[in-house]
Amino acid sequence: MITHVDVAIIGGGVAGLYSAYMCSTVGLACHIFEALPYIGGQCIAFYPNKPIYGVPGLHKIPAGEFVKRLSEQCLTDNVVLHMNASVSITKSNGSFEIIASNNQKFDANYIIIASGIGVMKPSIPVSIKGVTELANNSDFVQCYCLNPELYAGQKVVVAGGGNSAIDHAICISKIAKSVTLLHKRDNFSCDKNKIDELNKINNGNIDFKMNHQILELQQGVIITDKEVINTDRIVFCYGLHVNSDNIQNTISFTVKMERNLIKVEQSSMKTSENACYAVGDVVSYPGKTRGILSCCYEAQTSVSAISKELSGGI
Ligand SMILES: Cc1cc2nc3c(=O)[nH]c(=O)nc-3n(C[C@H](O)[C@H](O)[C@H](O)COP(=O)(O)OP(=O)(O)OC[C@H]3O[C@@H](n4cnc5c(N)ncnc54)[C@H](O)[C@@H]3O)c2cc1C
Repeated sequence: MITHVDVAIIGGGVAGLYSAYMCSTVGLACHIFEALPYIGGQCIAFYPNKPIYGVPGLHKIPAGEFVKRLSEQCLTDNVVLHMNASVSITKSNGSFEIIASNNQKFDANYIIIASGIGVMKPSIPVSIKGVTELANNSDFVQCYCLNPELYAGQKVVVAGGGNSAIDHAICISKIAKSVTLLHKRDNFSCDKNKIDELNKINNGNIDFKMNHQILELQQGVIITDKEVINTDRIVFCYGLHVNSDNIQNTISFTVKMERNLIKVEQSSMKTSENACYAVGDVVSYPGKTRGILSCCYEAQTSVSAISKELSGGI
């Protein structure tokens, strides 16, 4: 069975979500295809606890909260969201055929590419014995804190030494019984103000284990080169791997590119392919700036261009 959609949106970051919202405002039914198991793109992958800057009326709101509000606004009844949805897109007879990884088929009159900097996957330290099996088969191993409720009342070890490890330790400590920050070096590699922030909020439920090399994981147990630690969860904050070539692998037709970004006309966000638009961090045009406001402006511009075309250019 082939499902017909007016607009298919590739990517569920800020640009994709806001494009869906704009589609709803002009009565266009759309589906969002997001490769990851969560929406929000970079805001969730890189900085869920950092306040976002430069968005009018949203002073000091953490990016995670911003995405929650944005999804409440954008995921209306006219929008269907597919997560874990890697797709391949071909074009024939003027419409786009979309095949999702579960073999579901769709055809769309228009597509909006909102694939940002690509698909971001957490780096898992596969050299640690037992990590892959536990990551695939249990809740014990987590990569970044996508679901804070998982840590309520738990003993949690956060592994890593950069900004995101500190941010996650702070975030999880508000809900967990205790948090241990475990790092392989004797110094954190984060900004100085992160340590100040950590010290300021630490009411005794965050402790530190420096110079610990993790050798093996078993369910509920971390074996390091120094000791055996019993814990309910381990959260790895070891960075993210970005697959930025993915959009060329997703579409079978060619769109003009410029330094690995999709070239668009700024007045409409049209790509070089008819009925194919692109918005957000994946696009390039003279004077392009990256940021949440640009994503929203471009989403509005693209949907307004589609809507105009559908009404005969009026
Ligand atoms: C550390 C950091 C801090 C920032 N702080 C701010 C700030 O304070 N204020 C501000 O305005 N901006 C900030 N930004 C920039 C802002 O986050 C980005 O400009 C914005 O999130 C880009 O959104 P996007 O939707 O274009 O792309 P992304 O957020 O990259 O989202 C793209 C989505 O598309 C998905 N995807 C990619 N390819 C495919 C595919 N083939 N199929 C299906 N899905 C796919 C990805 O999984 C991802 O979810 C910051 C960025 C960073 C990294």
